[in-house]
Amino acid sequence: MQIVLLCSVLAAIFPSQSASAAVAVDPTIRVGLFYGTDALPGANLLNSVGSGYRLGYFDHERNFVQLGETAQTAISVVKTQNVYYGKVGSWSGYYDSITSDILVGCYHLQLPGGYSDFSAAKAAAASYTGGFAAWIDGSYFVRVGSYSTGDSARAAQMELGLADASVVGTSSAGVSVVATGTSTILFQFDSTQGLALGILPGLDNSVQTKTIFRGNTYFGGFQYQRVNGGNLTVSNVLSLEDYVQGVVIKEMSASWPVEALKAQAVCARTYAYRNLSAGKHSSQGFDICNTVHCQAYAGIAGMSETSRRAVDETYGMYAWSGGSLAETTYFSSDGGATESAVNVWGSSVSHLIGKEDPYEAAVANKISNYNWTVTYTSQELTQLLNQKGYTNSGIVDFRVSKTTPTGNVLEITFTDSSGKSYTKTKESCRTLLGLRSQRYTVSGGGSSDGFYVSGGGALFSLDGAYAVSGDGSVAQLPSGNTAYAITSSGTQALSASTSASGTFTITGSGWGHNVGMSQWGAYAMAQSGYTYDQILKFYYTGIDVRQP
Ligand SMILES: [Zn+2]
Repeated sequence: MQIVLLCSVLAAIFPSQSASAAVAVDPTIRVGLFYGTDALPGANLLNSVGSGYRLGYFDHERNFVQLGETAQTAISVVKTQNVYYGKVGSWSGYYDSITSDILVGCYHLQLPGGYSDFSAAKAAAASYTGGFAAWIDGSYFVRVGSYSTGDSARAAQMELGLADASVVGTSSAGVSVVATGTSTILFQFDSTQGLALGILPGLDNSVQTKTIFRGNTYFGGFQYQRVNGGNLTVSNVLSLEDYVQGVVIKEMSASWPVEALKAQAVCARTYAYRNLSAGKHSSQGFDICNTVHCQAYAGIAGMSETSRRAVDETYGMYAWSGGSLAETTYFSSDGGATESAVNVWGSSVSHLIGKEDPYEAAVANKISNYNWTVTYTSQELTQLLNQKGYTNSGIVDFRVSKTTPTGNVLEITFTDSSGKSYTKTKESCRTLLGLRSQRYTVSGGGSSDGFYVSGGGALFSLDGAYAVSGDGSVAQLPSGNTAYAITSSGTQALSASTSASGTFTITGSGWGHNVGMSQWGAYAMAQSGYTYDQILKFYYTGIDVRQP
C-alpha cells in the first residue's frame, strides 16, 4: 500500500482561478518524467499494447501534428550528439553520453534538395544504406549514416560516392529516433522555433495504447525537449483523465474503497488543473511534475477495475469554492483533527478550515505509526537548533506554547540556559524537528543536566574544556578524562551524560501537513458508507463538486 504525501513545503497557494467557464473537461496535460538534472541523453520506448509510433510534435494547443511514422515497436530518442547505447546499472538498455557498446554519431551526410512530405523523403532515403528522413524547421531532407566526427563523415562520403552530399553536424535542439539497440536512425527532428519532438505510440486508433518507458507503463504520448540545449526533458503527454488514473493508484492504492478513490480522483484532477493553468512548470516544458512536489505519478501499472471506476464515475468533476477551482490539498492522516491553512502555511483559505475528525481513528489499526513518539535530549535540541542557525547556550526547556482550536500545535518555544527564548510557529512546529505531524504534546524536560560555568551557559561535554589549577595555571582537560568537583560531601566525578530530566518526549498522531483531506480519513468514511462527495465536503468546507 503506497501512500505518498503531497509535499507541503511548497504550500502551493496559487492565485484564484478565474470564472468556471474557462475550465475544460479532460484537457491534455504534460507530465514531467525526467527533467532538470535528471534529463536523459536517450530514452527507450517499447510498445506494450498497440504497435508502431507516430512522429511529430504537440502544438501550442497540445494537438498532435504528425510528421512521420515508424512500424518499429522498440524505439529510442537520443539528442543529436554522440550518444552511446550502453549498460547502466542492472538494466541493459539505456543511452548515456559516456560508455560504450553502440554509438549513435551526430554527423551525417545530407543529400541536396528538400522533399515535400515524409513518405517522399523516406522513399528517397531507402536507396541508401543508413538513409533516413529528417524534418528540419518545416522541410524534409534525406540524410545518410551517423558518424562521430566530421572527418569520418567525409571519409564515408568518398567511399559511398556521394559527392553532392554535404556533411551536417550537431545542433542544440535536434533529436534523433533510432531503432533501440542499434545506430539505425529512423527519423530526425530539429526546430529552431522551439518545437519539441512528440511521439504518439500506436498506429491503430481502435486500441488504447500502452507504452513501457524506463520500467513504467504509460497511456498517451511523449515529448522530448532539449531545454537550453541540454539532455532530453521527457514528458508524458496524455488526457487529464488518464493522468488522474495514475495519480489515484499512486497516491492511494487500487485496492481501497471506491468512494475514497473517487474523492482522491476529484482532488487530483482539481489540483492538476490548477497547476496546468498556473504554469507552475511551464519554463521546463511541461505542466506538472511526477513527484510529491506536485503529485506522485508513475504511469498506470497497478490500475484496477475499482480505480478505473473511480475515475470514470467522476469524469470531469472538479471541487469548487465560490465559483473557482478549490485548492484540494491532501495528506496521509490527520491523527484526530485537520488544520486550517492559515495555521500551517500562513494564508487563510475559506474552504481549508481545521476540524475534528470523528472517522479516521476507526482505521488507525491499518495505519503504520498512526501514534508516534520521538524523544530528544536537551543536548540534541541544542545541536539541532545550532545547525539551523539558532546560536544558543544550551536548550533547557522545550514546550508547546500555543495550540489551535482543534488542538494542533501552533507555536513551540525553546529556552536556553541564559533565559533566551526561541519561538517557532505554524508549519515549522512540524518541519523544524522533522516530526510526522503538527499534532503532538511534549512532556519531560525540566532542568538541564549540563555543566554550568560562571557567567551563564551550559556545557554538555568536558571535551576541550580548560581547568584552572590551585596555582593559577590553565590546562586543557585531556579528552575522555574525568573531572571532579568538590562538594560539601567530598569529591564527586562529573558526568555529562543526559538523564531523564533533560529528555523531551514528543507524543503525536497522524502524518502530513493536516490541511484539507486526510486520505486515511477518506478510507474510513468510505468504509462507513459515505459517498465521495460527502467525503470531500467534510474535509473541504463549503465546496461543491461538479463538472465546469
Ligand atoms: Zn512539481
